[in-house]
Amino acid sequence: MSVSTPPQFDLVLSGGTVLDPASGRNERCDVAIAGERIAAIGSGLAGQAKQVIDTSGSTVVPGLVEGHSHVFQDVSKVGAPADEAHLRRGVVAVADAGTAGASTFDAFRQLVVEGNALRVVNFLNVSVLGLIDFRFGELLNPDTLVVDDALAVAEQNPDVVRGFKIRLSEDVVGPHGESLLKRSIALAEQAGLPLMVHIGETEEPLPVVLEHLRPGDIVAHCYTGKPHGILDGDAVLAEVMAARERGVLFDSAHGKSNLSFEVARRAIANGFLPDVLSSDTSARNWRGPVFDLVTSIAKLVALGAPLAECIRRATVAPARVLGLDREGYGRLTVGGRADVTVLTETSEVVLPDAAGNVITAARLEPTTVIHNGALVETVPWRGGVSA
Ligand SMILES: [Zn+2]
Repeated sequence: MSVSTPPQFDLVLSGGTVLDPASGRNERCDVAIAGERIAAIGSGLAGQAKQVIDTSGSTVVPGLVEGHSHVFQDVSKVGAPADEAHLRRGVVAVADAGTAGASTFDAFRQLVVEGNALRVVNFLNVSVLGLIDFRFGELLNPDTLVVDDALAVAEQNPDVVRGFKIRLSEDVVGPHGESLLKRSIALAEQAGLPLMVHIGETEEPLPVVLEHLRPGDIVAHCYTGKPHGILDGDAVLAEVMAARERGVLFDSAHGKSNLSFEVARRAIANGFLPDVLSSDTSARNWRGPVFDLVTSIAKLVALGAPLAECIRRATVAPARVLGLDREGYGRLTVGGRADVTVLTETSEVVLPDAAGNVITAARLEPTTVIHNGALVETVPWRGGVSA
């Protein structure tokens, strides 16, 4: 007969493999939650819990951080619903990559940042118009880059604006690519923030773009199959390796048209993993070929990237880039925020890249998602056979 003590923990995730790249932890143990905090990480915690979820056979990771998405729903044609597309699929913090510009930022703040449960930050489009409609390039009129407007929004909204974004494709910038890039760098420099540059179908080859970038600036779509990508045959361009060496970051940003399995396979074989592993989810791709961040992770794992390295690049790495590590995102720490995603491998499925090539991969399903200590109601994979 034992004397029962009241449970110390609200919830214990029991028996999974806890994988937290920030701390290097990768072992089978329990994670205990009390209120909005992680109360303990260790073995044998289940006996002290009000609720226990058996996570045996699954991987318990920090709540995922999506470094590149488009979630300006109802205003932009590319805007996906943030909570629906991300939180309910295991992502607790998301960066919108340039959907809002200075002229639409107030609506973005009200509708998206304040209108969703997950944490939302952004890269502000250097064009005041933002990305409202992909059919009409937001910088075809280069006068839409208004430095004072962008600076004012960044200065007034430091809790949200974590960088700037320029889409450098020819259909967006016309013949003004290099001059707009220079002006964007100057803007970012003045604000003390990074610039994210969307490549693929740029006017100039990638090395010309890279010359302008500073440490901390981000190249989005590093595995694009479009012209002017990162490869030179089977190898990664020497200029790309040199840019990485001096601190330029590379973001995978799958998107509707910017993940080539062939490019990714060769880059990964060369040891070139993205610094940030992101999905570039949008209204144009969240029902395929992208689906969600966990599917983007599963694709790179199937192409040879180690799972732990992929999780690092979808948790602590983007949290640091976005300044969200200061709020405790991207890691599992006792006393830290209770944002946890439990990933369970499914049976193998056939998954497409942006060009319709396929691979067979074990999908990762976010079987349990915890945000601020509370269980999130998840939704099924959108690539499943529709009912
Ligand atoms: Zn994007």
